[in-house]
Amino acid sequence: MAEQIRAVRGMHDILPSDTGRWQWLEDRARALLARYGYREIRMPLVEPTGLFRRSIGEVTDIVEKEMYSFEDRGGEHLSLRPEGTASCVRAAIEHGLLSQPQRLWYLGPMFRRERPQRGRYRQFHQIGVEVFGLTGPDIDLEQILLTRRLWEALGLTDLHLELNSLGDLPERMRYREALVAYLETHREALDDDSQRRLSTNPLRVLDSKNPAVQELIAAAPSLLDYLGTEARAHFNTLCRGLERAGLEVRINPRLVRGLDYYNRTVFEWITDALGAQGTVCAGGRYDGLVEQLGGRATPAIGFAMGLERLLELSSPTPEEIADAPDLYLVAVGEQAEAQAVLFAEQVREQLPGWRLLCHSGGGSFKSQFKKADRSGARFALVLGDDELASGRISVKPLRGQADQQTLALAELSSYLNAQQPSTDIAST
Ligand code: ATP
Ligand code: MG
Repeated sequence: MAEQIRAVRGMHDILPSDTGRWQWLEDRARALLARYGYREIRMPLVEPTGLFRRSIGEVTDIVEKEMYSFEDRGGEHLSLRPEGTASCVRAAIEHGLLSQPQRLWYLGPMFRRERPQRGRYRQFHQIGVEVFGLTGPDIDLEQILLTRRLWEALGLTDLHLELNSLGDLPERMRYREALVAYLETHREALDDDSQRRLSTNPLRVLDSKNPAVQELIAAAPSLLDYLGTEARAHFNTLCRGLERAGLEVRINPRLVRGLDYYNRTVFEWITDALGAQGTVCAGGRYDGLVEQLGGRATPAIGFAMGLERLLELSSPTPEEIADAPDLYLVAVGEQAEAQAVLFAEQVREQLPGWRLLCHSGGGSFKSQFKKADRSGARFALVLGDDELASGRISVKPLRGQADQQTLALAELSSYLNAQQPSTDIAST
C-alpha cells in the first residue's frame, strides 16, 4: 500500500460526528449577533505579512514565533492569518466602511505555529467582533454584555470576566518607565524571555506564565494607578455599567493582552476548567490601529473567542444537535429500488420540513431496516413493489411501539405532522 499522508500536526479534521456540535455553536452565535445588529464580514485567510507585523507588533509571540509566513511564487511575502482584527481593519479601510459606525463579526480558522496541546492548536477557529467609529464606553459595555448573553445561550456558567484599562499612550509610557525601573531591580529573578522583553516590550513581562516571574509581577506598580483623567472616567463608567447589569468583574491590573494594538479597555473571559488554556474570549479597545494601518483615525473595540475551547466547555443535548434524518426510505424489490431516488424526491416535495435519507446500495429488508434504525431516523418509509403498484407508502415508527401503516402519499404529510417532528428545519 502507498504511504499514508496525515494531516499537519496541530491541524484537525472536524468529522461529521462533530460538525453538529460546531453548527450548534455557530448558529447560536450568529443568531445572537444578529439580535445586536452586528453584520458578518468575510476576509481572506492569507494577507501580506506586513499587515500583521505592523498591527500585532514585532515583539509579540505571534509575530516572533507563531506565524506561518512564506514567499509565494511571485515573491510576495504572505502569511496565514493568525487572528482577524488586522484583516478586518485592513478590509474596512480598503472598502471605505469607516465613514460611519460599523458593527462587524467574522468566523473562521486562524493559524499559529504553537506547541499543540489541549485547547491549543495550529489551526483553530475564532468568532471575532469588531466595532468601528464609536468611542465608548457604552459600546465596551454592549460587547461585554453580548458575550455574557452568548454564554447563557450556550449554557456556560463557570466563566468569569477579568477587566483592566491600559490607559492612553502617554500614560502607558509613564507606567512603562515605572515598570522597567521596578523590574530592573529584580532583573536576576526574570527568565530569559522576560529579560529580553524588558528591553523590547516591557509590558509583555506582565503576560509571563512563569510562576516565579508572576510572583514578582504581583508586587509591581499597577497600571491603574497611572491612568489619566479621561481614561479613568472611561473605565469607571464601564465598571458602573457592568455593575448595574449585575455582572461580577475581577479587575486585574496585570492584564495586558498579548498584542500591541490595545488601549484603554481590555478584558478576558476565563474558565478554571481548561487548565492553562483557560481564556475563551479576549478583547479590548484599539483606538490607534486604524490610523496606524493607513486609515483616518477611528476608535475601535473588538474581541475574539476560541471555538475549540468553547466547545470543550459546552454540552449541547442530542435534541439540540439533531443532525439525524427524520425519515429513512427503505426500498425492497427490483422496481422499488429502481424508483427509490425519484420517489424520495416526491416525498421531499410533500414534506419540505422533514429530513429524508434515501437508502442506496440494496440489501435485504432486514439489513436496510437495521441501517434505518442506526441512522437515528424517527420513521422508516418502506417502498416495496406492492406499494409502488398501488401508489402508497408504508410508514413504521422506529422509536416507540406504534404499528406500521400504509398510506397514500397525499396522506403522509398529515400523518407525520400529527407525530410532531423533532426538528422542523423549515422554521429554523
Ligand atoms: P493564549 O494566552 O491562550 O495564547 P492569546 O492571548 O494568544 O491566548 P488571542 O490572540 O487573544 O489569544 O485569541 C483569542 C482567543 O482565541 C483565545 O482566548 C483562545 O480562546 C483562542 N486561541 C488563541 N490561540 C489559540 C490556539 N492556538 N488554539 C486554540 N485557541 C486559541
Ligand atoms: Mg497565544
